[in-house]
Amino acid sequence: MKSVVIGSEGFEIVELETPQPGPGEVLIKMLACGLCGTDVEKLEGRYKGSKPVIGHEAAGIVAAVGEGVTSLKIGEAVVPHHHVNCGSCYYCIKGSPTMCPSYREYNFTPGGFSEYFIVPKFIVERRGIHKIPPGLDPIHACLTEPTACILRAIKRIAVEEPESYAVVGLGAMGLTFTQILRLNGAEQVFGLDINPLRLEVAEKYGATPLNPSTIDAVEKVRDMTGGRGVDVSIIAAGSPLALPLGIRLARRGGQVLLFAVPPHGSTLQHDISDLIVREVTIIPSNAATDREMAEALNLIVNSRIDLRGLVTHSYRIEEFEGALRTFKNGEGIKIVITP
Ligand SMILES: [Zn+2]
Ligand SMILES: [Zn+2]
Repeated sequence: MKSVVIGSEGFEIVELETPQPGPGEVLIKMLACGLCGTDVEKLEGRYKGSKPVIGHEAAGIVAAVGEGVTSLKIGEAVVPHHHVNCGSCYYCIKGSPTMCPSYREYNFTPGGFSEYFIVPKFIVERRGIHKIPPGLDPIHACLTEPTACILRAIKRIAVEEPESYAVVGLGAMGLTFTQILRLNGAEQVFGLDINPLRLEVAEKYGATPLNPSTIDAVEKVRDMTGGRGVDVSIIAAGSPLALPLGIRLARRGGQVLLFAVPPHGSTLQHDISDLIVREVTIIPSNAATDREMAEALNLIVNSRIDLRGLVTHSYRIEEFEGALRTFKNGEGIKIVITP
């Protein structure tokens, strides 16, 4: 089988023997797997948050089950989650499930950009493989994991009944945030990006588009929020400049949801006293649990959100180089790899 893995310099497309599931494991035939910013950062050696495995936004069908697996059958359509938490350690009990030491311990082998991959027993027995309706488009289904991360991030917001939001960065994540915030009834969502195509899509999803390279976005947002600024800014761009902009967009007492991961080693360029004087809170959100996976799947299956419009490009495993090029050029919105 073909597989894209991390090589000594960037990626390598390798021919591997199709793995066989051991006891408790499940073999998945990949049908679609989203390319995530963290995959690109791992290939460039800039992301240190988890093990060097690429491809985690996968959808596929069960190709084989190991001894003792009774919860799944061959041929079932599924969305497997690459990380699950243990549910019983200090972090899990104290409300930090994605900080569970077991959470990043396990992953797909060799990774989601492979014709087949193994889901480990730890994930299988904690029901980390979610069944999906057989007719669901795998390209849509593979967006479950990133959507789940967004749902968890929104739950971490602690402002009472927020009315206004600014989404900084309108890539696939920022645009999904826009859709979900509007679905949840947000009255005012400002979408900020310098890319005109992305601004246009954000407007279609109900955001007020703002290009910070052509206007003073902070002043404009204040003008349109009674002089205050937004209740919540969401950082959905990996640029280290996005966070200081998000802080300036937030109102006094507002919150900044730090979602996109900037390159390893980035530092915050902002007057720290301003955070205290204006009591602005920065809330990071990292990954999602299987509760949000189920909730995200529910939104997708029931067509509450339509993410297919975000998938602008799909590439086969052997065309991976093209996928990376498109990603780095910023031409597309969401890029998906298919077998
Ligand atoms: Zn991802
Ligand atoms: Zn745990």
